[in-house]
Amino acid sequence: MPAARTIPIHPAPGSATALQPRLTRGRFNNWRVALIVVTQAVFFGLPWLNWDGRQAVLFDVARQQFFVFGLNFWPQDFIYLAALLMACAFLLFWASTLAGRVWCGYACPQTVYSTLMLWLDRLVEGNHIARARLAARRGSSEWLARKGVKHALMLLLCAWIGVTFLGWFVPLREVVARLPAGLTALEWGWIAGYGGFTYVLAGHLREQVCKHMCPYARFQASMFDARTLVVDYDSARGEPRGALRKAASAQGACVDCGICVQVCPVGIDIRQGLQYECIGCAACIDACDIVMDKLGQPRGLIRFSSDTHRQQPGSAAFTLRDWLRPRASLYAVLLLTVTLATGIALMQRQPFKLDVARDRQQLARETADGQVENRYLLQLGNSAGVPQDVELQLQAPPGIRLLGTPPVRRIDAGGNAQWALTLTAPAGQPSSPITLIAQSRSHPDWRVRTSSRFIGLPPR
Ligand code: SF4
Ligand code: SF4
Repeated sequence: MPAARTIPIHPAPGSATALQPRLTRGRFNNWRVALIVVTQAVFFGLPWLNWDGRQAVLFDVARQQFFVFGLNFWPQDFIYLAALLMACAFLLFWASTLAGRVWCGYACPQTVYSTLMLWLDRLVEGNHIARARLAARRGSSEWLARKGVKHALMLLLCAWIGVTFLGWFVPLREVVARLPAGLTALEWGWIAGYGGFTYVLAGHLREQVCKHMCPYARFQASMFDARTLVVDYDSARGEPRGALRKAASAQGACVDCGICVQVCPVGIDIRQGLQYECIGCAACIDACDIVMDKLGQPRGLIRFSSDTHRQQPGSAAFTLRDWLRPRASLYAVLLLTVTLATGIALMQRQPFKLDVARDRQQLARETADGQVENRYLLQLGNSAGVPQDVELQLQAPPGIRLLGTPPVRRIDAGGNAQWALTLTAPAGQPSSPITLIAQSRSHPDWRVRTSSRFIGLPPR
């Protein structure tokens, strides 16, 4: 195979000069832009959305409560967070089995923010050629001016990313209103930490993070099998490559234009085969498709393919059998099971939590008028997003009744209330199980119950 032509905008391995990837366009680039828009609209936009008078999504660590629209999660609801993490993991495994490093190329924050920084590069310094020329004039007044403007914009973006990140944990409107002097040192630490990491990782290190630091890049190959789609150069069609002017009947389809290398954000030549640095972004596919279109050749000299597909030339790259193969099916079933179980549990979830504790000092006491009293302490939590008027009901054998307890109590949204209550019955009433029910007045289907026991005493 002939050696790859030297591309001046791609520095030699080990060089201190930064990569200057060329921007491309095409269907995979459109997907990447769409995902950037969606993920960033969620990241930057959601903390500004209000729901029932408070931030719609807020992980309020200080109050140990998580608000997700109308739902309110408490530390004891940790199981839902665990289920969400499991679902995300199975989704990642499933996507990686089907389409390789699709997460890396399209949705990983490092890719997303590196792409945003690349757009800033392009905005301030021009295209890849202008950037390479500017890099060659390092230290000149133009270099200083453009780098100064670019890094100022990067820092501004990273500062806002840091503020927004904090806004997922402290109400964002409140954070913005307190800027700059009203924020605590800890809050500034979070902004500087997250924004600073983004500036260093996405603004400076970029592809080095994917190549040398990311642990996921190291173990994801364990999820691949012979049918996993990876970005692949069709060497049977492309080789022997050569410049167009040398085109002859024996020449392959690759005209050795080098554009697939120029657009690669990690600086590799996919024509040398799949390499661990490849993040599966498919920029080289888009770039080569444009070249093939211009030459009037079929697209797909670089394409998504698998080992199985390569061994069966002419077959479809991805079939129903690929979707349903055992490994992918296992991840899909696990993903569906966790998602469905969590969805059902959430639908059946009661926004009240009710616990009852008996008075441990005295299980039962007899009063002067011949009644037996049992005391209890109820702990009632309202995890709904709105205050609730909660009514207490007692289910017990005849003779046992509530003593002097107001039957309705108002509990704030996300609030707790303690409810001391006394049950009374005539002496001689046998000990028996009881049930206490807390029910919302506005939502009668919000109803929780707990059980305890009434201890009777014999008459004197
Ligand atoms: S873009 Fe396509 S034609 Fe150009 S060098 Fe790459 S593989 Fe060859
Ligand atoms: S080789 Fe192609 S798919 Fe892989 S990182 Fe480079 S441009 Fe993206």
